[in-house]
Amino acid sequence: FSRRPTDRPVAADVRADLLKDPGFGKVFSDHMVVIRWTKDRGWHDAEVCARAPVTLDPAAAVLHYGQEIFEGLKAYNLSDGTIALFRPDQNARRFQQSAARMAMPELPEAVFLQAVDELVKIDTAWIPKGDGSLYLRPFMFATEAFLGVRPSHEYLFMLIASSVGSYFKGGEKPVTVWLTDRYTRAAEGGTGAAKCGGNYASSLLAQAEAMENGCDQVVFLDAAEHRWVEELGGMNVFFVMDDGSLVTPPLSGTILPGITRDAIITLARKEGRTVREERYSIDQWRADAASGKLKEAFACGTAAVVASIGKIKSSAGDIVISDGTTGPVTSAIKARLVGIQRGEVADEFGWVHR
Ligand code: PMP
Repeated sequence: FSRRPTDRPVAADVRADLLKDPGFGKVFSDHMVVIRWTKDRGWHDAEVCARAPVTLDPAAAVLHYGQEIFEGLKAYNLSDGTIALFRPDQNARRFQQSAARMAMPELPEAVFLQAVDELVKIDTAWIPKGDGSLYLRPFMFATEAFLGVRPSHEYLFMLIASSVGSYFKGGEKPVTVWLTDRYTRAAEGGTGAAKCGGNYASSLLAQAEAMENGCDQVVFLDAAEHRWVEELGGMNVFFVMDDGSLVTPPLSGTILPGITRDAIITLARKEGRTVREERYSIDQWRADAASGKLKEAFACGTAAVVASIGKIKSSAGDIVISDGTTGPVTSAIKARLVGIQRGEVADEFGWVHR
């Protein structure tokens, strides 16, 4: 890594102003990481430099065939003054798996982790105090100027950072989700398990429909039968049954293997709770919500960690879970996970990277 710090950093008072209420994904730090890959040379020219626009040839493959992948993770200040990341090695591995699916070169895990550490160190001042965090966005795309349809021979890996506010502002407000009966996200054999831009592009129309119906997120069903619950647009989903057990859709290849999902399964099993990774149908969801067998439902992911699902809206009518408020199991799981992430609960699995 060569280091070329910016000679025009944002002034401290301007930065302090931006960090007061950063929102999500619109306040960016001073620097970025760039690493190039070519078929002849492999990975080379890693540098930490001033954040700046990218110049691309109009024939760059990503602009035509969408060969692009990304990741998302957060750096935050712990109460003891250190800076932490949650399981960044898992993001590095998922980035490799996404690359493999999209016929792109795999960035070595150690290089991914060094890139993250370098950027967090140089842009430490951009990590908000308190509940906020520095959201890190690693991504890679095809840059070769060639219009033939085949894997590109050149790529750019980049890492940028965005100061973000707390998702917990306003307390534990449950989210309302929209069940789309028109659109699906991923089919067997497709790219559902990869974090590629195209998955999100194809989800936007359903997301817009959700917003028009006053919902925060979309629930996607499987593409073959339109029956099995898969995941939300940007989060995995869990069900809490009346016997205290958890049910979550299995990693069948059509959903993203969430790092938060994995942490919740591990923590719940450690506590002696039964967790079943099995298919759960929308009809079952409706029936179990009506009978009271389903006590709680929640979504999970890096951005919001855990968000209770109070209600599902659909063209076939609404489903309200219990009384629509956040239940005790969801609250406890969230508190435990956030506690570990923030260094306030013992990190027995070694998940916190300082
Ligand atoms: N599903 C999708 C489609 C997502 O975009 C995300 C966010 N990365 C998740 C699930 C949750 O994954 P994670 O817990 O690793 O953030």
